[in-house]
Amino acid sequence: HAKKHGKNRVVVFHDEHAKEAAERFQVEQALRAADFDTEINLVFQPQFDLGKNKIVRAETLARWESPVLGKIGPDQFIKIAEESGLIARITLTVVGKALRVLKSWEDPIPLSINLSSHDLISDQVIDQIVRLVSESGLNPSLIEFEVTETAMMVDLEKASTNLLQLSDIGHPVALDDFGTGYCNFNYLRSLPISKLKVDRSFMENVGDPMTEKILHSLAGIAKTLDVHCLLEGVENELELIIAKRVGPQSVQGYLFGEPMNATELYLHVEAQNIMENKGDRMSQVVG
Ligand code: C2E
Ligand code: MG
Ligand code: MG
Ligand code: MG
Repeated sequence: HAKKHGKNRVVVFHDEHAKEAAERFQVEQALRAADFDTEINLVFQPQFDLGKNKIVRAETLARWESPVLGKIGPDQFIKIAEESGLIARITLTVVGKALRVLKSWEDPIPLSINLSSHDLISDQVIDQIVRLVSESGLNPSLIEFEVTETAMMVDLEKASTNLLQLSDIGHPVALDDFGTGYCNFNYLRSLPISKLKVDRSFMENVGDPMTEKILHSLAGIAKTLDVHCLLEGVENELELIIAKRVGPQSVQGYLFGEPMNATELYLHVEAQNIMENKGDRMSQVVG
């Protein structure tokens, strides 16, 4: 059997595996040695409400700048952090930093924070999050948590207990990557979820008529469950037109802003509010 593939191909295959393993090992080593407080930074991506016609929240996204490896995206380090038991510390770093950002703003912009499967099944992580928020004195409604179906399926019972603990004190919970998981009504109904974030892989394929039908179905599930529907990955005007046809309450994507630092986000929202007030005054004068 091996002969059929030829000698060279087998060698290349092995090399690639070895290269991947070596890279993974490097990332894990750098992650273990990292000082998260200085190396992990936060960026924020606007979530735009189509009814209110303004930014109503922003998603917190982690960025890692390693002194050894340079900039590494979350797609490359979150999974490794989960597998090597480092994710809890990263999550708590992100939560701590997000709370400091919120405290620094005169008029706080509500944020959302991603939780990983490990966080969801750990009582300690959830307890520490609750403690950090309580010490900050901030209103829990300012911090939404994003979870995925895959993460919850690791231990559904534990995950729902922990999510209930967060939602009971006023944290909104959003289901991330919606449409790529199980879409099981029974458990969706039993969890304290107030928002479905439809995965951006659907917006990537909007040219295809079947994709638009699927988007309508996913938005229909949100409607049936009476929860907020957000479409992710809206990159241009055409995609916005299609998104609006599907009828979500809000959208997130490059068209409304790429992930940016806290100051940029604050200025962005401030500018939007000034425009809005001007608009209101104009309509008072005219009307
Ligand atoms: P996610 O939570 O689904 O976040 C959305 C990702 O899509 C972000 O990538 C964002 O930059 C990207 N995105 C947003 N709009 C557009 C668009 O219009 N077009 C395209 N092509 N992409 C768009 P990012 O920041 O690289 O994060 C990737 C994933 O890493 C996140 O997916 C999330 O699962 C994970 N992640 C990021 N930060 C954290 C964190 O602090 N904790 C945990 N546990 N996971 C995180
Ligand atoms: Mg997310
Ligand atoms: Mg998402
Ligand atoms: Mg995603």
